[in-house]
Amino acid sequence: MTVHIHPAVDQGLKPESPSFSGGTLKCRCASNPVTVSIKGQVAHDHACGCTKCWKPSGAQFSVVAVVPRENLTVTANADKLRIVDPSATIQRYACSGCGVHMYGRIENTKHPFYGLDFVHPELFAESGWQPPQFAAFVSSIIEAGADPKNMDAVRGRLKELHLEPYDALSPALMDYIATHVAKASGVLKQ
Ligand SMILES: [Zn+2]
Ligand SMILES: [Zn+2]
Repeated sequence: MTVHIHPAVDQGLKPESPSFSGGTLKCRCASNPVTVSIKGQVAHDHACGCTKCWKPSGAQFSVVAVVPRENLTVTANADKLRIVDPSATIQRYACSGCGVHMYGRIENTKHPFYGLDFVHPELFAESGWQPPQFAAFVSSIIEAGADPKNMDAVRGRLKELHLEPYDALSPALMDYIATHVAKASGVLKQ
């Protein structure tokens, strides 16, 4: 049985280009698309199984990465953007025409990921962006309707694609969050 993860990874990961220096994210509207300009390469790209990330139809996972917020500029049709859920930690700006999420931003300055915007690199008009490095929130695809009995096959396929499956974020990112929390509380000095 074929397990579909996401159209950008199902055929295998496309390698990152060392010369990739950013590009333009474009929504899926045939006319007047929203465009977002990104400076530099994306980081921490991963497949995400959470129910909040935007996914193309038929995909069980999103592909999502971060960029410093100062490297992101909306360059066309900003008036079409709407915040999906203003009460969410990550304010996801979606195109009201096609529904694609163009970027997610954290406004809470105390949040460990404050300063980073979340983007879906598959929307780049250019190739050469960092491919996903791991798979996060894998168990959460069940919340979106995936068959719990099929999870071994899903995790097996992710491993085949060299996307180590985690049920939260990767250990490196979980350590990053915990370090931020420990410094904020004073448990960790400096
Ligand atoms: Zn659109
Ligand atoms: Zn997600």
